[in-house]
Amino acid sequence: KARNSHEPEFLQAVQEVAETVIPYIATKDIYNGKNILLRMVEPERAITFRVPWVDDKGEIHVNRGYRIQMNSAIGPYKGGLRFHPTVNMSILKFLAFEQVFKNSLTTLPMGGGKGGSDFDPKGKSDDEIMRFCHSFMSELFRHIGANTDVPAGDIGVGGREIGFLFGMYRKLRNEFTGVLTGKGLSWGGSLIRPEATGYGNVYFAQNMLKTKGDSFEGKIITVSGSGNVAQFAAEKATELGAKVVTLSDSSGYIYDKDGIDAEKLSFVMELKNVKRGRISEYASKYPSAEFHEGKTPWEVKCDIALPCATQNELDGDDAQKLIANGCVCVSEGANMPSTPEAILAFHKAKIFFAPGKASNAGGVATSGLEMTQNSLRYNWTREEVDAKLKQIMEDIHTACLEYGTDDNGYVDYVKGANIAGFVKVADAMIAQGVV
Ligand code: NDP
Repeated sequence: KARNSHEPEFLQAVQEVAETVIPYIATKDIYNGKNILLRMVEPERAITFRVPWVDDKGEIHVNRGYRIQMNSAIGPYKGGLRFHPTVNMSILKFLAFEQVFKNSLTTLPMGGGKGGSDFDPKGKSDDEIMRFCHSFMSELFRHIGANTDVPAGDIGVGGREIGFLFGMYRKLRNEFTGVLTGKGLSWGGSLIRPEATGYGNVYFAQNMLKTKGDSFEGKIITVSGSGNVAQFAAEKATELGAKVVTLSDSSGYIYDKDGIDAEKLSFVMELKNVKRGRISEYASKYPSAEFHEGKTPWEVKCDIALPCATQNELDGDDAQKLIANGCVCVSEGANMPSTPEAILAFHKAKIFFAPGKASNAGGVATSGLEMTQNSLRYNWTREEVDAKLKQIMEDIHTACLEYGTDDNGYVDYVKGANIAGFVKVADAMIAQGVV
């Protein structure tokens, strides 16, 4: 704790894992005296580098680039790149640490990593984004590779950025390999990868509801965020017969009492992915909607909440509001969106709560499927990838039940995911010795 006292998000993520894993370790002789958790919390490597770039007016800027290579005991480092002004060592270490457990849960051979920059893509032209991405990759390329470390997208890094990053990697290395995931379909990408995190989150929630004979049909859903994860979580929930009534961004949330149907969602996708506008514009377009500036959507009555924006966006007070309004299920699309107080409240109320490292693992799982297709030099169909994604989400759910069910039958999915993710990585580390 002392060594990382200036990294609150990282400590929060470690504490959540430690609380569930330490009691488990104490019951297993094989982990005795191995100091496994102590070894897991120290990144194998943490790289920071200068990213100079020139804006459209000719002015030179400098941002800081990062790559945290957390753990490669079960496969090459794998995890997204985040471009957002709040990016720092604490945030990336928390994300990389969570990624280790998440990737292990997918059952695919992937270690954990994360990276990014404090660069703010908002308001930048396509040319500025390209120059930044090229500069970023002109250093990152020497630390990554298809068998070493395979980055993907995250907040602020979508298909456009992955394209610019891949182009520079290919030029510098003079090779065409699956070094990044989330690529375009014509140059090594996988069908369903853009949809995978949002769809996977809904599939996971479906599995939870099924344990009580319930489903999405007729349910009211609140979603936060309006980026990649939020868009496809909303799409799948609607497809399954639910009514999605909110979306948000960092300026506030929109509430549409009539629901955000497929046509309205395609407006959001155009607004966010092409025009790069603000979610408030939705309320100007659709009279059934209102915009609530500076607020999060957790005050809206719902059956199921899907937080899909960012870390610590749902606190203890929000959790109390959701519970009082009759919410029965919270499934995290974002990484660590619920604070520890919120998680405690969900567990006390005995409602379904899925932590991101289980419920949003569909994104990285499909990245793993993209890597496999790249190695095979072959593309699976949309139906094939979707079927594999569904199966992986079901398997993660089953693993959570195995390690997280208490004597009264209540499932603590946080405990289940942490222990199931831990076991595979810990066993590999023990087998490989102290390295
Ligand atoms: P995007 O950049 O596509 O969208 C992010 C959304 O969250 C935007 O609506 C953004 O609003 C909002 N947001 C970001 N930061 C804040 C903030 N500080 N306060 C309020 N709102 C904020 O990112 P993704 O959809 O890819 O990622 C969303 C979450 O899902 C992240 O936690 C990410 O780590 C997680 N995740 C993503 C995966 C993926 O495959 N993409 C995989 C697994 C997890 P604005 O436009 O105003 O910034």
